[in-house]
Amino acid sequence: MSFEVLGLAPKILQAVQEAGYTEPTPIQTAAIPPIIAGHDLIGIAQTGTGKTAAFTLPMLTKLAAAQAAAGPNRRTRVLILAPTRELVVQIEENIRAYAKHLPLTIATVFGGVGEQPQIRALRSATDIVVACPGRLLDLLGRRNGDFSGLEFLVLDEADRMLDMGFLPSIRQIVRQLPKQRQTLMFSATLSKEIEGLTHEFQRAPKIVQIGRRANPAETVTQLVYEVPRHLKTSLLIHLLKEPNMDMVLIFSRMKHAADRLARQLEQAGIKTATLHSNRSQNQRLRALQDFKSGHVRVLVATDIAARGIDVDGISHVVNYDFPMHVEDYIHRIGRTGRANQIGDAISFVTNEDHGELRALERFIGRGLVRKKAEGFNYTAAAPPYNPAEEGRHPRHQQQRGQRPPRNDQRGQQNSSRPSAAPRPPQGGRPQFGARPQNARPQFGGGQRPPSEPASGNREGGNERHFPSTAPRPGGFRRRFGAR
Ligand code: AMP
Repeated sequence: MSFEVLGLAPKILQAVQEAGYTEPTPIQTAAIPPIIAGHDLIGIAQTGTGKTAAFTLPMLTKLAAAQAAAGPNRRTRVLILAPTRELVVQIEENIRAYAKHLPLTIATVFGGVGEQPQIRALRSATDIVVACPGRLLDLLGRRNGDFSGLEFLVLDEADRMLDMGFLPSIRQIVRQLPKQRQTLMFSATLSKEIEGLTHEFQRAPKIVQIGRRANPAETVTQLVYEVPRHLKTSLLIHLLKEPNMDMVLIFSRMKHAADRLARQLEQAGIKTATLHSNRSQNQRLRALQDFKSGHVRVLVATDIAARGIDVDGISHVVNYDFPMHVEDYIHRIGRTGRANQIGDAISFVTNEDHGELRALERFIGRGLVRKKAEGFNYTAAAPPYNPAEEGRHPRHQQQRGQRPPRNDQRGQQNSSRPSAAPRPPQGGRPQFGARPQNARPQFGGGQRPPSEPASGNREGGNERHFPSTAPRPGGFRRRFGAR
């Protein structure tokens, strides 16, 4: 299949070619024609499948055609809503690359930074607005922006927006949009709540589902390293000596633990950046840029901060802390092996994690390969206690060896979580529609703590204020079969 047969405008085909894409991904093949034909669409696809281009390329094709017919526009024509600032910026970068031969204007709107540039962009009827719901609603409420001529609404990572409690804001925004519009929605999973959203916001949507629901990308090799809890950092440092670990994203469950781990890696001579919601917008952007540019080869992140990350060439994802939710596992490992690249996902599993590991294996329908690091001493004693390290945050003063509270994002302790190997999810995998609102499929069947409020610090940033990096060309460093 080639891009030529999908009906895209010549200027967009040119941009796609310049991005180095030689053939469309499955979600692109399936989604582009119905969007060009004018249908609403619900796309069920994992991150890393090329879904941003799947909705952007046909939209741009239609915008270009309408623009040619009607001349310059005076109102915003496309609104894309996404859950995190990182994802908003990522989408914007992609659109800029795909629209580079079109005279379209693009702006981003998200909280945490000055609103004036965003207000100016909204007032000047920017063609395409990519926004987090909280800040956009805030600005719209003060009569900034005219969406009365809107042609497209896109809800990206709709499942995550629901999880994060954005539904009321989205409803209020959608109320201000014309009913006559094309609505595209993308989600990693199809749940009852997502079906509810399609009924509420879409008209007879076509459904495009790629791959098994929540199935990890097939290009990712998943490995488990069983390790005593006190040796996790030593094992990580040991593994990072491997020369092929050239771009490594490490997941830590807690923000402060992420900082501490980064310090320990730095002490071991490994340049490391960190990404979590306690860091300022500029620190986060700098961390991402350093990682993307290869200035640092290791990035330590928490789940939510890493949501929007689209970095080509991530060679390894390391679950330093085993994730609590099936979806977090899928999203984490989806950071590598993107768009047919290959990558390794390494999970550290301690004695306390075995219940979650079994639940995950049941969920994905197979056992994961266990690996032992060569030359690593698994029987070493715990490193000497370092009160200076431990005492940096009150939470670290908890008894050593005790499992940390599971929700790092706001430092709340989840009292409902069983401490020993928990029960697997009912029937071995989360049921469609069986989960309560604002809950995600979870290892062990425990309750998820309440989401960070929609207006919380996960949104933030600035309008268009750091260099746009085009989606990486197809010349991926590590293509399937190429290593
Ligand atoms: P997404 O799922 O939208 O986050 O895209 C994941 C990555 O795949 C991005 O880095 C895109 O630049 C890249 N990509 C999208 N479409 C293609 C394609 N047809 N061929 C190669 N890479 C692509």
